[in-house]
Amino acid sequence: MSARPITILGATGSIGRSTLDLVGRNPDKYRCVALTANSNVVELAEAARKFRPEVAVVADASAYSALKEALAGTGIEVAAGAEAVVDAAERPADWVMSAIVGAAGLQPTLKAAQRGATVALANKESLVCAGDIVTRAANDSGGRLLPVDSEHNAIHQVFDYERPERVARVILTASGGPFRERSRAEMALVTREQALSHPVWSMGAKISIDSATLMNKGLELIEAHHLFPVSVEQLDVLVHPQSVVHSLVEYVDGSVLAQLGTPDMRTPIAYTLAWPDRIETPSKRLDLAAIGKLTFEAPDPERFPALNLAWSALRAGEGAPAVLNAANEVAVQAFLDGRIGFLDIAAIVADVLDKLGAPKIGSLADVMAIDSEARRTAETAVLARNGAAVAAGKR
Ligand code: NDP
Repeated sequence: MSARPITILGATGSIGRSTLDLVGRNPDKYRCVALTANSNVVELAEAARKFRPEVAVVADASAYSALKEALAGTGIEVAAGAEAVVDAAERPADWVMSAIVGAAGLQPTLKAAQRGATVALANKESLVCAGDIVTRAANDSGGRLLPVDSEHNAIHQVFDYERPERVARVILTASGGPFRERSRAEMALVTREQALSHPVWSMGAKISIDSATLMNKGLELIEAHHLFPVSVEQLDVLVHPQSVVHSLVEYVDGSVLAQLGTPDMRTPIAYTLAWPDRIETPSKRLDLAAIGKLTFEAPDPERFPALNLAWSALRAGEGAPAVLNAANEVAVQAFLDGRIGFLDIAAIVADVLDKLGAPKIGSLADVMAIDSEARRTAETAVLARNGAAVAAGKR
């Protein structure tokens, strides 16, 4: 059997690297068509030299010459710019890993879905911003979205697609992040480094902060609503600090099915690579006797308001999730840059949602316009909070 052509969007990130690790272990099964990054030329060039894609692309146009030089003499095509990333997604790869972080992943993900590829979807932000548009594109083209997020991947594994009406509840588990036991007063003082140190998972910076605020679970609720044929009322969140039970589906007869595993993203990535078959992974095997105890608790919306903001945006529908996502991206970056405090992240998202509400979405252009306006509004809110903190001598 010839090797399956695959593309990795976001090849230099945490998910991209794990994907390449699996590809490297199965050289006869998969071959790379395109690898993309934002600006990390060194790592992209290294991956390209090893995996020999047809094309290597950086979204940051100013990195073009450096990439061209790094791949000189290899015969690998080089391209740069946001459009070039979309073009890479359009190349005829059968399977596309969507692992760009943030709304920047939307257009290339949509392009892959439109041309009927199997899209392994890690980039949850594209479904949050434009879930109806992306899922419709995949349905219309005969493509497929296979969720990479460990929670949605778990649900995909135990969801009875033949009888969705027999599903009572879909329960997303959440580790609770590094501040699960902190008070609001303590969270007001946490540093960037503390927020980035996730107790279980090793991930990129943005999703690590989202996990600390629990916005990640909120984005995942919206993602789940688009991926699975269930209503908002059937979705639930359960905090499970050990991250062994990756999510659960409850059926009308009271049976609850779950998928379990050690916290290693190579397991869900491998599931999407090989689906409906399975391939081996080097992921540590689950030893429940050694773990001994698994615990569960309800999330606390008072200490983690981001979760309720996401619930409200999901219920409001239309452009509210895109507003939530854009405001969150701006606020998370401002926190990472030391411009605002940890609690300001959810507060800014709440401000922007209050101001912009749920604008109507008719097309991708509407989504892009809403995204831009929400970013501008969030940036103004960041400036106001930063200014107030500086004036008070707190920053
Ligand atoms: P990382 O920050 O580790 O990697 C992001 C990747 O996207 C890098 O390759 C980066 O390139 C590229 N990138 C960043 N900005 C742009 C841009 N504007 N245009 C094109 N490419 C860009 O993120 P993760 O791998 O952690 O996460 C990726 C996605 O997967 C996110 O949506 C996240 O929510 C989701 N996810 C991640 C999980 C994890 O365990 N990490 C688990 C579940 C979902 P460069 O290196 O050059 O900056």
